Amino acid sequence: MNYVVIDRGDKLSKELVTRFHELAAARGLIRNDESPEMVISIGGDGTLLKAFHTYVDRIDDLAFIGIHTGHLGFFADWKADELEELVRMMAESEPRIVRYPLAQIELDTDAGKVTHTALNEFTLKGLDNMLVAQINVNDEMFEMFRGDGIVVSTPSGSTAYNKSLGGAIIHPSIESLQLAEIASINNRVYRTLGSSLVLPQHHHCDIIPRKDQRLQLTVDQLIIKRDDIRTIRCSVASRKVSFARYRPFPFWNRVREAFLGYDVK
Ligand code: NAP
Repeated sequence: MNYVVIDRGDKLSKELVTRFHELAAARGLIRNDESPEMVISIGGDGTLLKAFHTYVDRIDDLAFIGIHTGHLGFFADWKADELEELVRMMAESEPRIVRYPLAQIELDTDAGKVTHTALNEFTLKGLDNMLVAQINVNDEMFEMFRGDGIVVSTPSGSTAYNKSLGGAIIHPSIESLQLAEIASINNRVYRTLGSSLVLPQHHHCDIIPRKDQRLQLTVDQLIIKRDDIRTIRCSVASRKVSFARYRPFPFWNRVREAFLGYDVK
């Protein structure tokens, strides 16, 4: 099996990378940075997002495994002291591959169309003032948004920024996108729905920012600044991300451990 390791860059993660390579070599696993079948992330969820974007063009051909080194590690199944067991299982057994939905963001700009894929979410904010944007759902005007910004999350990202905004946590088997508002202005003049919206796989939404605004977009941890965006189409991507599971770790146990802080395993 070919693998690559992406780490957070801190001392502990770097030590674990060295140890992982030693254990993997002893078990006949092959390090291959160009075309790995398994991408091992050592760090936190931020590290897994970095690993995802490093290999986003090859996600149909590989699976991710997260090892966490102290932070939240929502995407991670393994702890730092379990490297040996993980490498043994990688060498001796077949994992269960679970496939989670992604968000596709298509920007229509003065320079043409640009597409991004998000594992957690896409956000849009005004760089100078509040964001003013029309939101269409399935090509029909839904609302005019005025406020700090909009977050469009995948089910995996529903536990990240979306959760801080009071959005619902969505099980990743539900192929969907969730739109959450950041501090919308609501009064007699300006009105938005206020609740977050969950769109199914066969629906899409377009965000049409008022002209001449400088905008800040994020796609997971990546920041993009542009002032030439005409529309942003958000939909469930046709591709999915794969995670390799060598032992069960159900989504709701993950949620309970990460946010309620107890483990019943
Ligand atoms: P960061 O500031 O280092 O990470 C933000 C926090 O979000 C970290 O604790 C991270 O966990 C956690 N996180 C990431 N993905 C998650 C997920 N799917 N479920 C639960 N928690 C998750 O920033 P970063 O490392 O560049 O990560 C970018 C992410 O930060 C964005 O995708 C966004 O979701 C999140 N964010 C959240 C807020 C907010 O909640 N107000 C604001 C901005 C951005 P680890 O500690 O394990 O890395």
